[in-house]
Amino acid sequence: MNLVCPLCHFNQHQTLFHSDKKRTYIQCQRCRLVYVSRECLPTLLEEKREYDLHENSFDDEGYHRFLSRAYDVAATETENFIYVKNALDFGCGPAPVLAATLSRNIAEVSFFDPLYFPCLPDKRQQFDLITCTEAIEHFHTPHEEWHWIVSRLSENGVFIVMTKRVISASRFAQWHYKNDLTHVSFFSDFTFTYLAAKSALTVSFPSDDIAVFKRI
Ligand SMILES: [Zn+2]
Repeated sequence: MNLVCPLCHFNQHQTLFHSDKKRTYIQCQRCRLVYVSRECLPTLLEEKREYDLHENSFDDEGYHRFLSRAYDVAATETENFIYVKNALDFGCGPAPVLAATLSRNIAEVSFFDPLYFPCLPDKRQQFDLITCTEAIEHFHTPHEEWHWIVSRLSENGVFIVMTKRVISASRFAQWHYKNDLTHVSFFSDFTFTYLAAKSALTVSFPSDDIAVFKRI
């Protein structure tokens, strides 16, 4: 297959991982990212329509509970390991609930979302804490976003990612997570470990959908 991995840009060994009625999924054999083939990427309008169906709002208790798991990891980090002067919630969606909770309890938080809050923070600004909850699986060009985020992480910074991870091809075939048409990049422990090594970060997995990256 003549494809280029959207994460590590390797242009060999991109193999078919899974296909169904709607989409084809490719796996890069270097970083092991699973990604949908480029002709299956949703348009901006299709993405917006799908996001607007999700009722992620400040009033939604389930959403608060869901995000509290990422918040708890951030709180543990800040209590025990890092002093956070400023933080960034990358890909916060229409309701920056996590950013609001972090702001109340931990530090000043900026937030960014390409659709809802598209103003990126100043290029020179560094963050001690960056969170990305249920957003990385939406990245069409994860290489670009990954490098942007890592370049903004301060010397002792922590980056917390929440996304469900790929376990195997057979589990993937039954996985509801892949059926959301806005989910286009699927990471695994291997992929996150690869990225950490490439970026001089450590990675740990405190739960099955949270990964924590730190500067070595
Ligand atoms: Zn790759």
